[in-house]
Amino acid sequence: MKPADQKLPLLPRRGRTLSIMPTFTCPAACTDCRTLSSPRERAHLDLATVLAAIDEARELDFCNVVFTGGEATLEWTTLLQGIQRAASYHFPVRLVTNAHWATSASVAHEKLAALIAAGLSEINYSTGDEHIRFVPLERVAHACVAACRLHLRTHVMMELKEARSITPESLEQHPLITALPLAERAYLTVLSSPWMPLNHTTTYRYPEGVACDVQAAAMRGGCTSVLRTYTLQADGRVGACCGLGLRVIPELNVSTTDMPQCLHQAISASEEDFLKLWIHYQGPAKVVAWAAQYNPAIRWEGMYAHQCQMCQRLYHDDAIRAVIASHWQEMIAEVLQAAWLDDVHIPATLSQIQRETA
Ligand code: SF4
Ligand code: SF4
Repeated sequence: MKPADQKLPLLPRRGRTLSIMPTFTCPAACTDCRTLSSPRERAHLDLATVLAAIDEARELDFCNVVFTGGEATLEWTTLLQGIQRAASYHFPVRLVTNAHWATSASVAHEKLAALIAAGLSEINYSTGDEHIRFVPLERVAHACVAACRLHLRTHVMMELKEARSITPESLEQHPLITALPLAERAYLTVLSSPWMPLNHTTTYRYPEGVACDVQAAAMRGGCTSVLRTYTLQADGRVGACCGLGLRVIPELNVSTTDMPQCLHQAISASEEDFLKLWIHYQGPAKVVAWAAQYNPAIRWEGMYAHQCQMCQRLYHDDAIRAVIASHWQEMIAEVLQAAWLDDVHIPATLSQIQRETA
């Protein structure tokens, strides 16, 4: 989607993230897994592809690297060497994992010590009702304790639905966690994030105020991932975000690892697409709410808590796509104004204030 007579702005180079999924294989098989990962999946990236992407990310001034999956630790050699290469360029490096490997305190310590020696600077654990069907909470607790003891910034992301048995308190009050000295416990943050189905026709119930309505859509900012995070997926596709369900939205897959300079090509293809810019600056909720003004049969309020499920709806609902196809040019001026505000005016004003108050 590109205006014929108008050159779209390229986003500032700052702030891009390279996300790498070395494999789609995972020891777990959570219902609604965002990457469709499971023990049956076999796709994986070879080491040379991972290192070449990290090298290109450096040339393009990316600002950090994230390893995720699937379960990235299953590709242990690729993971360690990828972390080493990224750290050699002074990239902050994060790993997202389900902590299946933390079978005891000593094993957790040994694995994390190796990752930190390679250059890991932050770790994220995912858990919740789906995850613990495959990875017991105790392993997440062992992994948290080992990370905190090694002074590694540690975030736990918990599945959030209205009815859930595993909550942040389940972990925070686990005896392994409560035994941590406060100074080490300070390295740990536990948060919840809506657990969403991978299609827009299934909806879950969430706690009061979590699902999106018109007011919330107006308040929500843009999608901070699209056009900022480029994801090397285990099947060789490069995505324009790190979004949940990236695998099932073809339009968000913008290049492949067998193309020369695959990140450069991904950036060019993405930033020339007005819909991605629109989602970046205003968020999918605003796009869906806008489409519903043209077609009141589009019902969406109170159905979705996660913006990526809203994005699934946006890309897969024929009624919404029809409104966008007919009316998107009407939004060009507003989106370009949002781009100017976010990328030019506000940063310039903030830096002027900083200079004046220094
Ligand atoms: S642990 Fe994560 S990657 Fe593995 S199946 Fe569950 S949600 Fe998917
Ligand atoms: S909202 Fe859409 S574009 Fe943004 S991260 Fe989610 S799937 Fe990707």
